[in-house]
Amino acid sequence: MAELTELKKKLAMSSRMLFNSGLVDYSGHISVRIPGSDHLLILPHPVSRAIVKPDDMVVTDFDGKVIEGNYKAPSEVFMHARAYKARSDIQSVAHLHNHMVATLSMVDKPFYPASSNPGAFFGPGALPKYMDPALIHTIEQGDAVAKALGKADALMLRGHGSMVVAQSIEWVFAACVDLEEAAARFYKAALLGPVLVYNEDETQRVMKGRRKDSVVQKVWDHNVAKTKLAGLMEGI
Ligand SMILES: [Zn+2]
Repeated sequence: MAELTELKKKLAMSSRMLFNSGLVDYSGHISVRIPGSDHLLILPHPVSRAIVKPDDMVVTDFDGKVIEGNYKAPSEVFMHARAYKARSDIQSVAHLHNHMVATLSMVDKPFYPASSNPGAFFGPGALPKYMDPALIHTIEQGDAVAKALGKADALMLRGHGSMVVAQSIEWVFAACVDLEEAAARFYKAALLGPVLVYNEDETQRVMKGRRKDSVVQKVWDHNVAKTKLAGLMEGI
């Protein structure tokens, strides 16, 4: 029970932090698997991401059906639910309509996150892309997104945004920040000339310094402070 209370609090905090970072606006959501169950906790559909509270969170099963809560689940809950169903290693999922990744998703060119240090978070190679631009409103669409994600940590959704998965809310939050920064840098660099994408060895060496709990915690703590300073952590 104490664990559930803590997860709800972290979801509310991360939602306000994503809002404060410009990564979500009126839409976009983050969720967490309820440990040892086939259920997840997710932001409610109608409540602003800037003011959502721990007790607003909704519980659904892996078919996206609401089990508990005072609100509807987001209409794209299936993206979260089916990712947890497909991969037992995923503990948290975020879906963003983030500007830079959405922009890159609209071009018929690969996006290589590992051409800047934040992007090395995602390892070598181009970010996978889900090509159907429709919103994810069914179990079947959720399964198709999970299939396109494969074993990756993030996925571009063509003309739509991104999905980020990881082993905790803190890791997903840090990955969301890194992915958007990597996309912004890739976009600007590509305007200047061919991008010098990190090779396998370079990616692994940079990733070693990037993908660790201490860095994730630093990103989290900085954004907690920034969001408090903006006056957006009231009531949590
Ligand atoms: Zn969406």
